[in-house]
Amino acid sequence: MPGEPPPIDAELADVIAVTRGFMPDDEGAALRRWGIEAFARVDSGPIIEVGSYCGRSTLWLADAARVARGHVVTVDHHRGSEEIQPGWEHHDPSVVDPRTGRMDTLPHLRRTLEAAGVEDVVTVVVGRSGMVGRLLGRRAAMVFIDGGHGDEEARVDAETWIPLVAPGGLLAIHDVHPNPADGGRPPYERIYRPALDSGEFTEIDAVGSLRVLERNA
Ligand code: SAH
Ligand code: MG
Repeated sequence: MPGEPPPIDAELADVIAVTRGFMPDDEGAALRRWGIEAFARVDSGPIIEVGSYCGRSTLWLADAARVARGHVVTVDHHRGSEEIQPGWEHHDPSVVDPRTGRMDTLPHLRRTLEAAGVEDVVTVVVGRSGMVGRLLGRRAAMVFIDGGHGDEEARVDAETWIPLVAPGGLLAIHDVHPNPADGGRPPYERIYRPALDSGEFTEIDAVGSLRVLERNA
């Protein structure tokens, strides 16, 4: 566990509190702490977030970038995962584009980043995870995977992003449920397990459903 970082910017915390999303504060604080640590370990290379949604988790990472003079790249197609489409439990009708009836979280993300004043430390990339990973192809200080939770999407995320974590860099994964009773399994089975079982990563933190692994140097 790295040392205590300076407290989060108060204005930023106010924006987090009103931003739609799925990141509990204790897990967000852990992401921020490990983000700062990742920038200390790997001097070039951004934090890459897969699954921006409206920016709730992005802001924790943006504050890490601000503290450590790093940068965040956040990736999403902004059409919503399968499990947050209309009719599903976590669907939010206020992120549907009334013109088309499809989800579009990009305007929400843009407003979040603007309100928090972090547009200078966050680059927004709109696209499918697998395609963006192939285009980016660079070493990351930290990768945070919180994208699609279907079997195939989680598999593609693992294949795409795990290789991009620099030696000594960090791999954070959200919604990891070792016990099937706690929730869907793809992030556990397709991302977390293969990373650990490869022998290339060691687990260094667990907060709620967030897991943080380091790539062995
Ligand atoms: N990190 C956010 C929540 C992310 S929800 C928070 O904590 O608030 C998951 C997001 O992943 C959705 O916005 C969805 O559009 C995106 N997503 C799902 N599958 C994707 C894929 N294959 N490529 C890009 N984005 C994807
Ligand atoms: Mg999540």
